[in-house]
Amino acid sequence: MAFLNMSVSGLAAKTRKKEIGCVEALKQSLDLIKKEDSSLHSFISVQEKEALERAEMLDSLPDERRKQMPLFGVPVAVKDNICTQGVETTCGSRMLRGFKPPYNAAAVEMLLDAGAVIVGKTNLDEFAMGSSTETSDFGPTRNPADRERIPGGSSGGSAAAVGAGLVPAALGSDTGGSIRQPCSHCGVAGLKPTYGRVSRYGLVAFASSLDQIGPMASDVRDLGLVLSVISREDKRDSTCAGKPFREPDDLYSGDIRGLRIGLPREYFGDGLSDEVRRPLMETLQRLKDAGAEAVDISLPNVSFAIAVYYIICTAEASSNLARYDGVKYGYRDLNSSSLTDMYSETRRQGFGAEVKRRIMLGTYVLSSGYYDAYYLKAAKVRTLIRNDFSNAFEKCDVLMSPVTPSPAFRIGEKVNDPLQMYLTDIYTVSANLAGIPALSVPCPFAGKLPVGVQLMAPHWREDTLLRSAFAVQEMKA
Ligand code: GLN
Repeated sequence: MAFLNMSVSGLAAKTRKKEIGCVEALKQSLDLIKKEDSSLHSFISVQEKEALERAEMLDSLPDERRKQMPLFGVPVAVKDNICTQGVETTCGSRMLRGFKPPYNAAAVEMLLDAGAVIVGKTNLDEFAMGSSTETSDFGPTRNPADRERIPGGSSGGSAAAVGAGLVPAALGSDTGGSIRQPCSHCGVAGLKPTYGRVSRYGLVAFASSLDQIGPMASDVRDLGLVLSVISREDKRDSTCAGKPFREPDDLYSGDIRGLRIGLPREYFGDGLSDEVRRPLMETLQRLKDAGAEAVDISLPNVSFAIAVYYIICTAEASSNLARYDGVKYGYRDLNSSSLTDMYSETRRQGFGAEVKRRIMLGTYVLSSGYYDAYYLKAAKVRTLIRNDFSNAFEKCDVLMSPVTPSPAFRIGEKVNDPLQMYLTDIYTVSANLAGIPALSVPCPFAGKLPVGVQLMAPHWREDTLLRSAFAVQEMKA
């Protein structure tokens, strides 16, 4: 369900021409949130007052200024691990309850420059560690398609908010699938850009060599629009490549004749449910009918992807999360009598079980004696996985695969079984390890529960992804 049945660009065209006021559009979003979000819980906080002030300011701007703002008056939700100046940014953790960053993330700055209105901050797995949005200290988010089920994670709040039509677009972050998985489960489109496309300045770090911020929306075309806004060069992130995405003119022609679609054999083996396989095969057939060519591909090293990912991401997390010591940010235990007690009590009380598990795993794989066996080995296999993709893209333009092995599972089903939870990431983590762009587009042939189609392309080829995804979106079921 799209916000007011409009795309982001459709809404911005109307607000720019004053056919809809920015305040009016925002109030629609706020009303929907009040009505729906008590049962969904997609937001951790809603900035009603600040958003209204901003929408009023935008309504007073002259035409020339409006024309320069591609997201003029568009209400946007932001995952709560992306810093917003003066607005609580919690990462879904007790550790950061009450933390108000003194600055905006680069992506947020760029949204604001483009005329967007930040409505609120969305729920997530604690520090973005999870695949279901159940590890949030604020309680789980529910799936708009079935409230007994998880929305996917970790950007579950953003996906549920867009999926329920509360906002037309949202930002998420994707370290190992956290944009694509919840989008797949909530029937929304979402894009993880090429590593280095979007500045990570102000994104609370989980695993810095994997994290990327990306857009989530109802319409594939809005992903391109929002990406072109948030991908400006930014010197404050040394890994930001300074390659802003520009939408080519014919991007959404729907013409995919001659497109070579690679099907990685390893992604269609055992463990893939029929509820996902069947609609994907139907999609492939339709793409072939429209003139695309299917290519059989092998990615021989992706069977190691989960192991490699969970070594690298925990190693990086253990280092990144060392900063939460009760001194500099957020929560502090006030009852300890010594400094070291204060450190350990703060971390014991401030972090949840999944975060602690990852810090311990990460510390272990980096410790002397184990570093070579685990971390170094994983770093090497990561290169092999990256090479698998480079080889594949000599034979095809885009890879098509499932996003998750099955549609959304029930709340509580896997939360006490970390290994089962980690295995749901099997199809998404490789794109992060390789740094390539990947998206999830709703499959038009899914059954009762939404299912996404994953597309992956070579570095910097988001255009190929969007072109192919648009063809999927426009198929008539
Ligand atoms: N589910 C993966 C994990 O738990 C990915 C999380 C993410 O992309 N932030 O690490």
